[in-house]
Amino acid sequence: MNALGEKIMISRKVKGLSLRELGNRIGMSHSQLSRVERGVSNPSNSLLKKIADELELKVEELLLLNNPDSLIIETKDINLKNKIKSISIRRYEVFVRDNFICQACGLSAPSTQLIVANIIPFSLGGESTIENSITLCSDCHIGRNNHLSKFGLEDDVFVKRFNIDINDFID
Ligand SMILES: [Zn+2]
Repeated sequence: MNALGEKIMISRKVKGLSLRELGNRIGMSHSQLSRVERGVSNPSNSLLKKIADELELKVEELLLLNNPDSLIIETKDINLKNKIKSISIRRYEVFVRDNFICQACGLSAPSTQLIVANIIPFSLGGESTIENSITLCSDCHIGRNNHLSKFGLEDDVFVKRFNIDINDFID
């Protein structure tokens, strides 16, 4: 499976659609769609547009995942372009590394919404690297931010789980 296939599969499951149901909506057989999700076949750009519409995704993101080297982002700013590209790729590499499971509570999609968070926040000097990134569900992310904001870090399951020195979080 590749990042594009993962993105489509997870987004489809979040919407509660079977392969057959999504396939019907975009005029594709469930086996063809399954091949796209497994990364066996490369979908055309027009097909990606249909998938994006059905799953309420940004087509730019799917295009970028399908071809990370493409310069399809509509900006002349090469730095911005590279930044968007690296964030998108990093997010999916982290999801794949973490098996699409919240690393604090163990919930997975589609029962929860997963996000990629920084282990050490940007505001405290954390970098946007894969090593400093982690998959969390939205609840754990909110809880973590609340803990961080109150500095009640002793009870933070996230901090315990990763054995992080709480002094790292305190100015
Ligand atoms: Zn969680």
